[in-house]
Amino acid sequence: MQKRIKEILSSGEKDYDFEIKGWVRTFRSNRFIALNDGSTNNNLQIVINTDDYDEATLKRINTGACIKASGKIIESQGKGQSVEMTDAKVEILGDSHADAYPIQPKKHSMEFLRENAHLRFRTNTFGSVFRLRNAISFGIHKFFQEQNFIYMHSPIITASDAEGAGEMFRVTTLDMKDTPMTEDGKVDYKQDFFEGETNLTVSGQLEAELAAMAFSNVYTFGPTFRAENSNTTRHLAEFWMIEPEMAFCDIHGDMDCAENMLKYVIKYAMEQHPDDIEFLTQRLVNEEKTKPQNERSELNLQEKLHFVLENDFERITYTEAIEILMQSKPYKKKKFKFEVKWGIDLQSEHERYLVEKHFKKPVIVIDYPKDIKAFYMRQNDNCEPGRETVAAMDILAPGIGEIVGGSQREERLDKLEQRMDEMDIPKEEMSWYLDTRRFGTCEHAGFGLGFERLVQFVTGMGNIRDVIPFPRTPGNCEF
Ligand code: ATP
Ligand code: MN
Repeated sequence: MQKRIKEILSSGEKDYDFEIKGWVRTFRSNRFIALNDGSTNNNLQIVINTDDYDEATLKRINTGACIKASGKIIESQGKGQSVEMTDAKVEILGDSHADAYPIQPKKHSMEFLRENAHLRFRTNTFGSVFRLRNAISFGIHKFFQEQNFIYMHSPIITASDAEGAGEMFRVTTLDMKDTPMTEDGKVDYKQDFFEGETNLTVSGQLEAELAAMAFSNVYTFGPTFRAENSNTTRHLAEFWMIEPEMAFCDIHGDMDCAENMLKYVIKYAMEQHPDDIEFLTQRLVNEEKTKPQNERSELNLQEKLHFVLENDFERITYTEAIEILMQSKPYKKKKFKFEVKWGIDLQSEHERYLVEKHFKKPVIVIDYPKDIKAFYMRQNDNCEPGRETVAAMDILAPGIGEIVGGSQREERLDKLEQRMDEMDIPKEEMSWYLDTRRFGTCEHAGFGLGFERLVQFVTGMGNIRDVIPFPRTPGNCEF
């Protein structure tokens, strides 16, 4: 494999001839090219003898152009880099018209870069973000593989909407202009490709549970789709989810696994790309300089990540969380927009208070009211009447809110069926799922980690649209 700029700069090796290909970041004094090949934000300085080139060629060495440069790597004569390439012969592989190229060597707004998502990979910020995204993704596989989890591919097209996790995207090959109808005026899905209604998956959990009942420990890592019309900095219509499912595991083992995984992956990403973490830390520090002192964060990104690695996550019950909220200043001063009382679903403002103001660290909330959670979550025994809870857990992260949602699953067939009846979930359509409870059921638990929210946490990016290459959000499916 060809040596990349990262290696050339970090090894500091010198006095050898080399040929390098990459994209021009800047060209100054008709002599110094800053070349980038995506391996690092640090550019390789390429020095040319201006006299060797005619005017027309020099004009083609523009920001964004792709070039090949051959010359000698020597100790750098200038400041800011260990080595540089001298006496370089430059060949232009791909022109970039100076006036037309959108990514100029200056600060662009995030909105502008989103509109130019096809080119934003070539900026420092997105270089760092997507190298880290890659490392986080690999780190997740590494964590599970080292513990003998089986990576399981759950289907993308599904017929079940059992979870009710969100609005689904319909999958169909029916002719929208001439839709076949049944006699009672409904769309005749019998004539559709799968001879029934199908959708894009919102979660691979139910399928992962089936596999866990054979392999003991499995995980999925794939795209999921939710047509929820929530235009927030934390929601995408297409996002990636990691869903481990573990047999012989209760809610406590589930929390341990999630906390260990998050720490492992954060550490792995920081070790792989310290320069990128450093760059993004500085980026946030600069961004915060525009804010008044009291709104700036106490810890910078790097310190925040270290803090998470070195401290246990706080673990509290939902009931305790409600008590803390009811004792809080914003509650007493009526600053919360949403009502606080036992039974509510915690709103983002409540989660943020717990994490950012009260505990100042990641918090795991367990034992949520049964009525606000999914049918498959295990009903806790010995609940106070009127305060029935399930063994569910959410991990809340500073600046992000919910990053993980999980639970111990109801493994008792009678309880599960009873809950499905109460919630009007058709048991016949779910008989394949219920079979796991009929044939060799056991205690098991799992969770869903929103991959982009984790990438946001590690990179400090405020908007989820800036941690996925091509975001899909309401009204936007470009590129
Ligand atoms: P939220 O309340 O934030 O919408 P949720 O309760 O709908 O989350 P789950 O159904 O438990 O989330 O999904 C598991 C995880 O997937 C969440 O903890 C979150 O990290 C992530 N997630 C959920 N919805 C989205 C989305 N639209 N875009 C990106 N990540 C998401
Ligand atoms: Mn949601």
